[in-house]
Amino acid sequence: MRKLTEKKLLVATHNKGKLDEIRAMMAPHGIEVTSAGEMGLPEPAETEDSFIGNARIKARAAMQATGLPVLADDSGITVDGLDGAPGVYTADWAETPQGRDFMQAMTRTWTELEARGVAEPRTAQFRATLILLWPDGHEEIFEGVAPGRLVWPPRGVQGHGYDPIFVPDGHDVTYAEMLPEQKNAISHRARAFRKLETLFA
Ligand code: IMP
Repeated sequence: MRKLTEKKLLVATHNKGKLDEIRAMMAPHGIEVTSAGEMGLPEPAETEDSFIGNARIKARAAMQATGLPVLADDSGITVDGLDGAPGVYTADWAETPQGRDFMQAMTRTWTELEARGVAEPRTAQFRATLILLWPDGHEEIFEGVAPGRLVWPPRGVQGHGYDPIFVPDGHDVTYAEMLPEQKNAISHRARAFRKLETLFA
């Protein structure tokens, strides 16, 4: 396993919610984070059908554009009552001609569960795949899963994406009702990040 010696890292994301979380997780290690969005890099199309495949697309695009070591995150929610959907299409369910609308995505998720008559608890898992890619092509991959259940109506104003309808196991509040530091201690991304931390020199 290759150690990470750089004190500056490029994160291949245009998603501010993810970036804030990754930046907060890196800060205690003295690692400064810039992002593909902040650098104005183009956002590549995520054409693979796996989290790892799409994370690799984002990492390679940012690395080829800059020559820097890159961290990419591909993530999403798998809902058991929907046979694992939206999964890798989690962000796509929010797409509208005007940009991403997560109320639309959450409503679709709940409406499809209702249509199928899925019994409660409506279990789901948030999943995060992190890839660290070096300019010589070496990569390290880490995955984190947070099991929980979906609730309706949405609750809370913190966080991003589907946070207002996800209650992680062992809690009564949604991700969006947690303070960032609470979510960052238990989330799927935090679980993947704790594995990645073994690379810090
Ligand atoms: P992608 O990784 O860019 O394909 O997008 C993943 C999508 O999953 C995001 O746009 C969010 O909708 C959702 N997602 C990933 N992580 C979280 C999270 O921590 N909270 C809420 N939604 C998330």
